[in-house]
Amino acid sequence: MKLCTLVSGSSGNSTYISDGTTSVLVDAGLTGKRIEEELSSIGVSAKELSAVFVTHEHNDHITSVGVIARRYGIPVYANRGTMKYLDAAGMLNRIMPENLIVFENNKSFLCGTMTVKAFPIPHDATDPVGYRFTSGGVSVAVSTDIGEITDDIREGTKGCAAVVLEANHDIEMLKTGPYPYPLKKRILGRYGHLSNVSSADYACELAEEGTETIILGHLSKENNLPELAFETVTKELKKRGLLEKCSVMLAPRYSHGELIVC
Ligand SMILES: [Zn+2]
Ligand SMILES: [Zn+2]
Repeated sequence: MKLCTLVSGSSGNSTYISDGTTSVLVDAGLTGKRIEEELSSIGVSAKELSAVFVTHEHNDHITSVGVIARRYGIPVYANRGTMKYLDAAGMLNRIMPENLIVFENNKSFLCGTMTVKAFPIPHDATDPVGYRFTSGGVSVAVSTDIGEITDDIREGTKGCAAVVLEANHDIEMLKTGPYPYPLKKRILGRYGHLSNVSSADYACELAEEGTETIILGHLSKENNLPELAFETVTKELKKRGLLEKCSVMLAPRYSHGELIVC
């Protein structure tokens, strides 16, 4: 399996996942042109894409979902709640009905040669999900925009070789930072975003279950620093003797991260 974050953060999210035969995007939260450029800079043509999966309807995840689906004639996958929202927002115009594929959360299905499972995540959107993709006995997962770690997330990500895991904010930076109080409360809440310390804690659980690569994603520009997120997570892994088993990477905000092969 190959995995690469094309961009990650509140100004856009998109992750490329491929098993060599089937290639998909999880979210398309930047312009179609930028997606094509980021893909091409990791040696992938957008023409190879087989589908676009949507996690939830927030703007930083859906900008060019319709554009990419129309341009390459590929299906959009989403659960009922999210698909309804995209449709009502006019983003699915001129996409063939058979290319709008609605799935149920927590039920595995096939997309080409990959097995896919969407798992519910706690976040303030209609019906937000994370994704697990499996092929040839190897699984990878994307799990960002999560207020807290739940059993659904554990089930969805456990045993994955690589996981894109949110490390959104440093709690102190957020508390003392410029955001208005209601927004701070939203981010810190159960349906907001995952802090560095919670991410570090869960990274250890993942490492214990055999995850070899954790890609920290959806870092806040105002309330986090890449070095701080990285240090918080690696320190905790080291403290628990797990750092040799598991490597930590950062998903850049405005450009693609490393292409991970597992
Ligand atoms: Zn987001
Ligand atoms: Zn969101």
